[in-house]
Amino acid sequence: MASPLRMPPADQALYDPEVQTLAPDALRRLQEERVRRQITRVFEQPIPLFKRHLEASGIRDPRDVQTLEDLARIPTLNKNHLRESEAALPPFGDYRGSPPDSWVRIGQTTGSSGRPTLIVWTEHDLAVDYAASARARWRWGLRPGMKFAQAHPYGLYAGGWHMCHGVEAMGCLNIPCGPPATQAHMELIVRLWKRLKPDMFRLFGNAGVKYYEAAEGLGVDPARDLNFKRAGDHPSSQFDAVSAGLEALGMLGSACAEKKGAHLCEDLVVVDVVDRRTGAPVGNHERGNLIVTILEKDNFLLRYDLEDLVTVNLDPCSCGETHRRLYYDGRVSDAVPVLVGGGARVREMLPIDAALLLYDFPELVKPSVEYQLVRPKEPTPSLKIRVECASGDAALVARLQKAVTDAFRDRLGVAADVEMLARGALPRFDYKAARVVSA
Ligand SMILES: [Zn+2]
Repeated sequence: MASPLRMPPADQALYDPEVQTLAPDALRRLQEERVRRQITRVFEQPIPLFKRHLEASGIRDPRDVQTLEDLARIPTLNKNHLRESEAALPPFGDYRGSPPDSWVRIGQTTGSSGRPTLIVWTEHDLAVDYAASARARWRWGLRPGMKFAQAHPYGLYAGGWHMCHGVEAMGCLNIPCGPPATQAHMELIVRLWKRLKPDMFRLFGNAGVKYYEAAEGLGVDPARDLNFKRAGDHPSSQFDAVSAGLEALGMLGSACAEKKGAHLCEDLVVVDVVDRRTGAPVGNHERGNLIVTILEKDNFLLRYDLEDLVTVNLDPCSCGETHRRLYYDGRVSDAVPVLVGGGARVREMLPIDAALLLYDFPELVKPSVEYQLVRPKEPTPSLKIRVECASGDAALVARLQKAVTDAFRDRLGVAADVEMLARGALPRFDYKAARVVSA
């Protein structure tokens, strides 16, 4: 199959070895050169929102930002800045890096934290994103000519369109199934897979579980008849890719065989991980807010806080790639504060923290771990969590409740108030699960 992207030989381990194994000094020089170019554009084009922001931070000339340290001193921008810009100058605001007649696609953020903002792409921006995602999918073993089944939603959620066009640009056969809808839709898709036997599946969240159950309902053995091993089986599969905002899609990478975080595309994005209370960079293996500066796009973001929480891994990797790795932990809006140390400190718990712990209890795993964290109005000394359990044996359920409570205390250092529920008591989700509810 022909591919508009440059494709290396299929047996080559890395998609772009020259870039992916750049020595740290050379990578830094490349980043700084690209940062200087973007800052110059902010002043010369100009890009008014970013120019005002730099001037308010005491930067009056592009030459004031030469190094990554200079960049890191610029205060962060967030969704509110973009919302205010769009409200003042509707509908697109004054932070776009290219004129409207150059845009070929629009997307909208999910709006999970307030009014959605608009994202635009030029042809060049799309090409950058597709090449970045080819690098990420190459690590997963996707190669030109393969059949690739995925269940992304479409519409204004640009992730689905990007997934489609990105794998097609690699020369793969894209099988766009859509999220599981009705029983009839799921059965139609299962029958299609039986005929096509896809080489790779990418089914996020509960989509994999639902299609898997639909296949079993039809008497189809998913592994044997469809080549379908359930994706998302273990919560750590969340770390295979950094699925943060659409604004930085593709550049946040994917995990290599070592599976200790996703390798970033650091030639395309400068990533800082900071403690959001102090703004200081976090240390190796610590969790913080994900801040991005996009380097190679016409429409880019500067020191932008995606309001996602990641854990940084600065260890050298055995695969030979030099770009740093991140674990994607979850959204800031999903963090549940718990008082620890006798009320002296607040610890933030995310759904992934609970999921990784609950997965160690086989009785809670089949066919999927279902749980819910409850966010109190004010931080309390214990984390309220609801967990589904299939067993009707009251003594076993009581033992599990105690064991889960002990595990939260011993492994995560937080007191937990664990409520055991019958199977089916908690809501199910087609796509991204909402695991946190407000009290
Ligand atoms: Zn690696």
